[in-house]
This record gives sequence, C-alpha cells and structure tokens, in this order.
Amino acid sequence: MYYKIYTKISMVAILLATILFTSCSARKRQVLQHNLTTSITEDIALFKETLAPVLAPAIDSLTLAKDKLHAAFEPGRRKDLSWVPAIHGDLRKPNYVIIHHTAQETLAQTIRTFTLPHTKVSAHYIIGKNGEVVQMLNDYERAWHAGAGKWGSITDLNSVSLGIELDNNGFQPFPTAQIDVLLTLLDTIKVKYGIPAANFIGHADIAPTRKNDPSTLFPWEQLASRGFGIWYDLQFLETAPDSFNTTDALRIIGYDTRNLKAAIIAFKRKFIRKDLSPELTVFDKSVLYNIYKKL
Ligand SMILES: [Zn+2]
Repeated sequence: MYYKIYTKISMVAILLATILFTSCSARKRQVLQHNLTTSITEDIALFKETLAPVLAPAIDSLTLAKDKLHAAFEPGRRKDLSWVPAIHGDLRKPNYVIIHHTAQETLAQTIRTFTLPHTKVSAHYIIGKNGEVVQMLNDYERAWHAGAGKWGSITDLNSVSLGIELDNNGFQPFPTAQIDVLLTLLDTIKVKYGIPAANFIGHADIAPTRKNDPSTLFPWEQLASRGFGIWYDLQFLETAPDSFNTTDALRIIGYDTRNLKAAIIAFKRKFIRKDLSPELTVFDKSVLYNIYKKL
C-alpha cells in the first residue's frame, strides 16, 4: 500500500520537475534541482522510516527461511567465508561394506523398523531370505547402521561404508538364494566404488563389545573366495613363532583391542566359528598369523 502511494507521488514529482526544467532559466534550474534533490532525499528517508517496521517481520522471516534452507541443503558450507564454487569434484564414495544380520524374523519387519521415527537405524540394502533386495538409501548417503565402533583408525564407520542387512534372526543358516544375491550386489559395489577386498567386514568386527552379527553361520570363506573379505590358507598354515604378538596382529587387521577378549571373540566368530572362548589356541594363532602375513 505504502509503496503504491509513494510510487504515484514520485511519478507526479518527476513529471512536474520535467515541465519546470524545460521552462526555466539556468539559475532557476539549479535552484530547482537542489530543492528537488533535497525533497527526494527526505522523501526516501521518510519512505524507509515508514516502511521499515512494516517490512521488518517479512525480512526476518525470509532471512530465517534462507538460513534453514542453507542448513538443510548445504550443512557443510561456511556462511562466514567467501564462496567460490570449484568446477572439479564429486561426491565422496563408500570405501567399506559392513554386513549385518537383522536379528528380526522377516524382511517386512526390518523395513518397518527402519521406517519408524524413534528407531534411528537404517541400512542401504536389505536382502530377504529368497533373494529379494530392497534399497533404502542412496549409496552416497550416510546410513545409520554401524553405530559406535572402530576399525583400524576409523571411528566413524557410517561415513565411509555401505550397510547391507541380511534378513536373518541370528540363528538361521543363510539360504543360497540370499547369498547368491549378496555376491552379485557386492560384485557391483566393489567394481563401482573400487573397494579393496579387506574392506568387506562384519558389524561384529567393528563393534566387538556390542555386536555379534553376522552370526557364525555366515559364509565368510565363500565371500573371500570371490574377493570380499580376507581368509586364511588352510594348506599353508604354520605354527606362529614365539615372538608373534597376537594383540598387535589383531590391531593391524583392524580390530579394536582396547577390550582384548572382545576382539579375540570377534576374530574367532569369523574365522574359527566353533569355539568362541576369549583365548587363542595354537591353531587360532596359526590362523591369525596366516592372515597377518597377508596384510
Ligand atoms: Zn548389525
């Protein structure tokens, strides 16, 4: 409303000024120009003073909306620094794959769990017992599947990994149809993102004090034979030398050895499978030694 009124006043003033200008002497024009300039300056000041309180809430709302959009779409971009967009670059790629069992009874149950607001868990892929695959997050997005954990020096596994959940209650064997589809999916992922074989790991590997998935029934040896994860060479096993430091070896593989017993159990759940006591037998040490030498 104010804007329209002032626009009309200004148009009339400009029209009058034009008429006066064309019919005045040079001196009179000067005086007129001065008066007109003063009048317009005052007019603008009044305009600002009148409109400021009216527009302030709208400006505040727009600023808030802009800040919210900024936070939602560019949370990593600093507002306080100058911004010059680089022309070279792309999205970060996953460099690890973490395999889980869902510890639930059905694929539908897991999908429900991952879509309830309070659960705060998710994974990129879920594979059903019959081989049905459901993707729930873009590969480039960060799923909430790893939780607190450590592998080597990495402490935020969610930021570097894809999470794959296998529909399994933790006590069932993994059906061939499910593993076949997993292998195909891993093939695609490995080639697409160039993930090293040793970086295909289990949830229990990175969180040995909290997690036990995938269970001892998971076929890690079969996966390793296809280039997903590492395995030992049974025919080349040798007794580890007395000087062999098993704790260092576990740490070099990636295990968090701050809780050594938990790390040993995690190692044995994957490679030994039958005995989950927190001690390493001579055989266990030779398996560990064999894997250690591969790294
Ligand atoms: Zn898990």
